[in-house]
Amino acid sequence: MSDHQNLFAMATAQFTKAADLINLNPMVRTILSEPQNEIIVNFPVTMDDGSHRLFKGYRIQHNNTHGPYKGGIRFHESVNLSEVKALAAWMTWKSALMGIPFGGAKGGVSFNPRNFSPAEIQRITRRFTYALGNNIGPEYDIPAPDVGTGAREMVWMMDTYMQMFNASERNQTRRVVTGKSLLNGGSLGRDKATGQGLVFCFDVWSQHAGFPIKGSTFFVQGFGNVGSHAARIMQARGSRMLAASDHTGAIGNADGIDAHDLAAYVAQKGGVKGYARAKEIQQTEFYHTKADIFIPAALECTVTIDNEALIQAKYVVEGANGPTTPEAEAKLAARGITVIPDILANSGGVTVSYFEWVQNKNSELWDLEKVDEELNIMMTRSTEGVIEEMKSRKCDPRTAAMCLAVGRLEKIYMERGIFP
Ligand code: GLU
Repeated sequence: MSDHQNLFAMATAQFTKAADLINLNPMVRTILSEPQNEIIVNFPVTMDDGSHRLFKGYRIQHNNTHGPYKGGIRFHESVNLSEVKALAAWMTWKSALMGIPFGGAKGGVSFNPRNFSPAEIQRITRRFTYALGNNIGPEYDIPAPDVGTGAREMVWMMDTYMQMFNASERNQTRRVVTGKSLLNGGSLGRDKATGQGLVFCFDVWSQHAGFPIKGSTFFVQGFGNVGSHAARIMQARGSRMLAASDHTGAIGNADGIDAHDLAAYVAQKGGVKGYARAKEIQQTEFYHTKADIFIPAALECTVTIDNEALIQAKYVVEGANGPTTPEAEAKLAARGITVIPDILANSGGVTVSYFEWVQNKNSELWDLEKVDEELNIMMTRSTEGVIEEMKSRKCDPRTAAMCLAVGRLEKIYMERGIFP
């Protein structure tokens, strides 16, 4: 089985490493080793041509002792049970590490949205939401965007879910999803939150390491929501982007690529391919880009033993979930390359989702300055916590982050015990 097909084994390996190091209580280890609920639904959708297709959807609820289940919905052809289980577990660790009162979940539908019309995607989204029924809820399980979904899909999910309630109760169900559009209850700053959080995290990390961001260089894999926002914000810090890639190909320019200009091009053309102010490059050349920072912000298992040796960056900052395989990570560490792990580096998304949820619950509207300020506080605190833990345990950054997250859940379980 490829890494991609067995992503949960990778998540388990990361968990086991931290559990061993903190000598995790055996009861807690057993409980956290599998998700609490695995929901799989097959649902029919009418296509534009009148035919019908059956879709397979997943919602994996890993853990809710730290708060309601929370995590994105992915629309991608590679969505499979093992992948969603891993992604759900990472959400549990992410919320616990950040101290956000949520648990962990993830969902997805296995199809390629690029091959379907907007009307079909809407029907798929709505019918999937309906199939999930009361398995989601504003105080129970709160979906959000992930790969292949955005504010548009979240608003459709919210609207579908709302139809199940009387008009008088509907407003209180808005927060059943986060990552909504501004007009439909979204938060300012949620669209850029993951990229913004990643840069806030790297601000702290680089300061501790004595590495100046100003004058540095970076390259981005996956110039989508996370990657393109991270790139624009890194550029504002005085760092230069030397290469970018996405599902259409990879481009590079040793003199630098303007992140805003490329984002405008991608918004129009759907991908980086054909961008005139850089040249098309092969994947090997892309991984070998001579830049200080590599931001993998696409899918899981993109940094593997097959390409790890090509990487010459000093830092790999994980915008995606699970981009680095454990084998590749060990080799990178041996070469002195720091991998700042997903559950820390990309946690800005769920953090601002939490702000959105709080705003909906209290009928508040925060301005962008407040969102950014609160996000910065939380990213700074968690990044400093991981650096401290890493030093005291003499371990790698991911294991340090995992030790903090799992240790927090262990304390919760030790106080609560298990029923009956
Ligand atoms: N899908 C994002 C993640 O993997 C965001 C989850 C959320 O906002 O709930 O962190």
